[in-house]
Amino acid sequence: RKEENDMALTNTDCPDLKLLARGKVRDLYNVDDKTLLFVATDRISAFDVVMKNGIPGKGKILTQISDFWFDLLKDVVPHHLITCNVDEMPAAVQKYREQIEGRAMLVKKLKILPVEAIVRGYISGSAWVEYTKKGTMCDMPLPKGLKESEEFPAPVFTPSTKAEMGEHDENINPDKLPGMIGDRLAKELEEVAIKLYTKARNYAREKGIIIADTKFEFGVDADDNLVLADEVLTPDSSRFWPVAGYAPGRGQPSYDKQYLRDYLTSINFDKSAGVELPESVTDNTMAKYIEAFTILTGRKPTL
Ligand code: ATP
Ligand code: MG
Repeated sequence: RKEENDMALTNTDCPDLKLLARGKVRDLYNVDDKTLLFVATDRISAFDVVMKNGIPGKGKILTQISDFWFDLLKDVVPHHLITCNVDEMPAAVQKYREQIEGRAMLVKKLKILPVEAIVRGYISGSAWVEYTKKGTMCDMPLPKGLKESEEFPAPVFTPSTKAEMGEHDENINPDKLPGMIGDRLAKELEEVAIKLYTKARNYAREKGIIIADTKFEFGVDADDNLVLADEVLTPDSSRFWPVAGYAPGRGQPSYDKQYLRDYLTSINFDKSAGVELPESVTDNTMAKYIEAFTILTGRKPTL
């Protein structure tokens, strides 16, 4: 029999709370009219497909990484996190302690802005694809001759639409934002996103991790203040590259999903459905998550 710690939590079941959504990774519950419960499960996706089995403990690491960054970045902008400590959560939530301990965030309910606030310090992913085709990024012209994974002279704000579940987000020119969310929020969103990214990038680079790019989500509270929401600066919402071995002119190994991607490539994964991952893949992947956490925070995660 496997120890409980060795088993992945792929679905939460909290019947007394209203389940609002299951994302690819997180389950979202309503707590009351001001509060939500975000639970990071151990599900893992690649190429937008969720695998059949999870990575035991991955959700806990993701939650603890977000918790770390929310605290480090709290002087830049207010955030939605109330607590990750189950003892401080309402009784209706504490009831599910066994499932949620270490992997849940109690957060303030916000009106989420319909924009993914992406900031890129290095050219990669969809930005690299657009650049190779059109010489632009989010329809903004870029200098000729950039190499893949090259660092920009300064971080660039490259927003995208927040697509409905199952749809793909679309990069948009920042000029379109005022029409979507108003002048004041558009300006503030860009400024804050760049500040958050810059602070985190500088911090992480010192420790040995390049945060190539990241996606923030923001909401507004009842007083219309901008508040940082969702998860922050996790390997799921960002590209983490090891500083060691970084070289422009090619794609960089993904910090956390390399084992998974290599495995999926080796079995000719067809992207129509998730597959069962062997233990070597789940173990090696988890080790990378733990390594990222430890490098960033200087301590061991609570698993
Ligand atoms: P996926 O990330 O798998 O592509 P998703 O974004 O729909 O799908 P999750 O990220 O798991 O799924 O779900 C979190 C949802 O909660 C997102 O729609 C996010 O915008 C929303 N959200 C985040 N923080 C808050 C908040 N404080 N108040 C209200 N909604 C929030
Ligand atoms: Mg999401």
